[in-house]
Amino acid sequence: MTSYPICDLFASIQGEGSWTGRPVVFVRFSGCPLRCDWCDEPLHRDPQAVRRLNLDELLREITSVGAGIPSVVLTGGEPLIQPGLQELILALKQQGYWVAMETSGVGGVFPIELDWITLSPKTSLTDECYQSAHEIKFVIVAPLDPNLEQTIGHWMERHGRVLVQPVARNETMDPEAARLCYQLVMASRGRLRLSLQTHRWLGVR
Ligand code: SF4
Repeated sequence: MTSYPICDLFASIQGEGSWTGRPVVFVRFSGCPLRCDWCDEPLHRDPQAVRRLNLDELLREITSVGAGIPSVVLTGGEPLIQPGLQELILALKQQGYWVAMETSGVGGVFPIELDWITLSPKTSLTDECYQSAHEIKFVIVAPLDPNLEQTIGHWMERHGRVLVQPVARNETMDPEAARLCYQLVMASRGRLRLSLQTHRWLGVR
């Protein structure tokens, strides 16, 4: 039976993106093929943090931790690289959950059963990958990489929901990146939205 490497599982509010403020159960998988130098999820690389749960154990824990919360966000690390991902999504859907995924887009194809896909690109991806996402969320580091600026400009003209979010360092929003995001949004003629990690202000995960 498939077992899933889980490094964190908790209930909180969705702090960022289009569903900010929604209570959800976060399932954080261990492992990611990328190495972003500002990665703010170190737990997914910590071997001590990993627990392997089979499907039944994982579903039980989601139900128990969530205590009636009907929404699950699969995140990481990178959920797309997890064997058995589709099986998990189908099982959650059968139980009536709204299921979302946050992904860098690297490591697999998006399961069509998902209710919501947040693509947070960190490397070059196919057009199909961008088009399949419900929202595209670019993490912004100052100064802005000209290639990233070009990619944002391209997709804000072609996708209905593109967000920019300032990078966080040491659990704190980077003020320079935040100013840059503000400027990008204001110059976008209404095409870009600002995403802020509001859970950090609440002092919760
Ligand atoms: S893609 Fe996400 S989880 Fe992976 S290294 Fe980059 S920020 Fe961290």
